[in-house]
Amino acid sequence: IFFRSIIMAEYGSLYDLSSAQPAWYQKSSVLGAFAVAACVVLGLSTISNDNATAQYAMPSPATMTRQPVIGPGAVQYNKPVAARAQHVVSRATQPRFNGFNNRFSTSLKAGEWAPTAKMPRKFIVGGNWKCNGDRASIKELVTALNSGETITGKGVEVVVAPPMLFGDYTRSMLRPDFGVAFQNCWVGGGGAFTGEVAADMIKDAGFDWVVLGHSERRSLPEIMETDEVVATKTAYAVEQGLKVMLCIGEQLEERQSGKTDEVNARQLAAVADRLDEADWANIVIAYEPVWAIGTGVVATPEQAQETHANIRAWLAKNVSPKVAEETRIMYGGSANAGNAEALAILPDVDGFLVGGASLKPEFLKVIDSWAKKME
Ligand code: PEP
Repeated sequence: IFFRSIIMAEYGSLYDLSSAQPAWYQKSSVLGAFAVAACVVLGLSTISNDNATAQYAMPSPATMTRQPVIGPGAVQYNKPVAARAQHVVSRATQPRFNGFNNRFSTSLKAGEWAPTAKMPRKFIVGGNWKCNGDRASIKELVTALNSGETITGKGVEVVVAPPMLFGDYTRSMLRPDFGVAFQNCWVGGGGAFTGEVAADMIKDAGFDWVVLGHSERRSLPEIMETDEVVATKTAYAVEQGLKVMLCIGEQLEERQSGKTDEVNARQLAAVADRLDEADWANIVIAYEPVWAIGTGVVATPEQAQETHANIRAWLAKNVSPKVAEETRIMYGGSANAGNAEALAILPDVDGFLVGGASLKPEFLKVIDSWAKKME
């Protein structure tokens, strides 16, 4: 009708299409054509206004359905509209802080913690149970850990590393907001390597983390892992999709002779040589001065902050400023409920790797120390 009206109005007389029609019919056709055109224009502008509003408004429950990607570079692919809107709101209320938000922007869900100027990296607390425990004591420990408040949506991540044999047993009882790590893995994939566990197997069994380079594995005479072995394990584990708690740190004599930074740099360089920049997103560094591990002698806040800052400076120079800003550096070495808060508030301390105290209920207090950073 629309096109016929236009043709009749514009060209009817020219082509004599309307000669058989009365004048009133021709006039009403012209009016009809304008009415239809007006409706089309109005309709189009309403649709484009709706689209513009949808990007900023909180959706009603009725619209909380999965949405497709909006355009090239959109990071919220297929997230529910509600999650996207919540994400935008929570980021808007955070102070802008040298790009740390970007690291988490693709992974934040509704109600999740977001980086702030006070805590630019999510705090992380690891519990290294070493070669301790049996089914009964692990059950008791897990029951104590499960009694704490949930950490979902909070600024702290918790990962415990039971003896390998009890990995599944621990996972089956531990609440899901706590992660489980393995304490070691083989340098590569599976094969004729009696007594070893490959990173692929760890991943396949449903675990996300592995602790590598612990000083006990580097320096016990029965093991003596070199920097290169630790680096090979780290590179392979990351390639298999595991996250790595990479332990580094100096012996007492090395600290006393002023070699702390040199030792840390050497241990880091071996790993950095084997990783791409993007791989660092799956690495957390645990700075563990060997003289502090299991001795009850904890690094002073000055020692910890200075060494952590030097590690970060090394990353900035030798990997990239972005990796330096984003990589979490935990402190390990006689950390416990009594000293955690004083260390947690340090700007370059992003968490703890805890040995002895992680076998006791006081581990919950170490976890809680993250909140001190926010004060
Ligand atoms: C550790 O083994 O990683 C550790 C830090 O132990 P502790 O807390 O007992 O010193």
